[in-house]
Amino acid sequence: MSSIFYFAAWTDSGCLLGCDHEHQTVTSAVACITCASGYVIAVEKNVLRTLTDAEEAEFQDAMYGTKAKGKRRLSADSTLTVLITI
Ligand SMILES: [Zn+2]
Repeated sequence: MSSIFYFAAWTDSGCLLGCDHEHQTVTSAVACITCASGYVIAVEKNVLRTLTDAEEAEFQDAMYGTKAKGKRRLSADSTLTVLITI
């Protein structure tokens, strides 16, 4: 069933912007997010909707899972370096 796809969305100067792809998974849409305020929006039967709980969990994992682990590990030696790079 290809009636659902996802795209990366973010705001810039008050405008909602998004990528032009039709991602098959939340994780691949996350890869298109270029700024910290990015989000993923689902399109089901040509209607925009927010993510379900399962999709939200995948989004959180793809977006923050690795980063959160890296943050904890780095806090031991180089505390603030990574936090300010974005
Ligand atoms: Zn994309």
